[in-house]
Amino acid sequence: MSKNVLVTGGAGYIGSHACKALRDAGYTPVTYDSFVTGWREAVKFGPLEEGDLMDRDRLDAVFARWEPIAVMHFAALSLVGESMRNPGLYWRHNVLSSLSLIEAACAAGCQNFVFSSTCATYGDQDGVVLNETTPQHPINAYGGSKRAIEDMLRDFGASHGLNSVIFRYFNVAGADPEAEVGEFHQPETHLIPLMLDAIDGRRPALTVFGSDYPTADGTCIRDYVHVCDLVDAHVLGLKWLEAGKGSDVFCLGSGKGFSVREVIAQSQAVTNREVPIIEGDRRPGDAAVLVSGSTKAERDLGWTPKRSNLTTMIADAWRWHQNGHYDS
Ligand code: UDP
Repeated sequence: MSKNVLVTGGAGYIGSHACKALRDAGYTPVTYDSFVTGWREAVKFGPLEEGDLMDRDRLDAVFARWEPIAVMHFAALSLVGESMRNPGLYWRHNVLSSLSLIEAACAAGCQNFVFSSTCATYGDQDGVVLNETTPQHPINAYGGSKRAIEDMLRDFGASHGLNSVIFRYFNVAGADPEAEVGEFHQPETHLIPLMLDAIDGRRPALTVFGSDYPTADGTCIRDYVHVCDLVDAHVLGLKWLEAGKGSDVFCLGSGKGFSVREVIAQSQAVTNREVPIIEGDRRPGDAAVLVSGSTKAERDLGWTPKRSNLTTMIADAWRWHQNGHYDS
């Protein structure tokens, strides 16, 4: 019998790729999504349960129906800028909905939990290469809300025996190479899809948010990881939990940072088109540099990123961009 995994946010960018990876690894991904930000067309690899994480009765019914061996929790609001303008939204939505989910999982006896956390929990760290032991000092409500959920998981681990693998993501990019699913947000705020929009004329230009950061070319540096590599790590995290190896935290970075201008230059090279640019102000809440390695994930989980070079990420994103927008 196939093992069921409850995937919150399975209709979103990373969650939909995770569902494909889970299906390919022999699991049944059961998507739980409210469609606040997800897409019905992205639910292709397993059953769908529509619902809100705050709806505890609905969650209890879904746990009872599918008896998942684990939860993968992707559902969240995840925009740094929005979290600075409306922190209450982030604290309420991300933290309270995760609490509801964690309590439902514990009540159902589902003790394996894989959680999407973020490098935004670290804040601005003066350009050091981050790892799992770097102290977390979030500088925006998004990062703060994710750190609070990490704390919750530790507490429920101690009180209820909940085992969690926490992944701190860096910048996720690219798309399924078969273009079955990809990155599509409404509204879009992320660098690479906005740049591709500017390249193909869907938008007039890309605004570069700040050219006066203390970096070599003055723009922010980020560590980009291919979404398919990222979700492969989640399957390994699930196997880690199934093997009874206990709770742990892993950073998923490529170990190399690229500035906004370097990403633009590489996109021009991959697409052979110009990116029209406007020089803008800094975006509130942005750290200058966020880069991590993945030594621990490689060593302990056996994670080997395969597509996380900038050329492949942009080429996969471009293929999806040209072929696969959702429209519901
Ligand atoms: N960025 C930019 N223009 C945009 C969107 C993003 O210059 O229209 C910059 C942003 O300031 C950050 C980097 O690109 O330094 C990546 O931003 P994104 O929103 O893609 O991801 P985040 O780092 O917020 O997770």
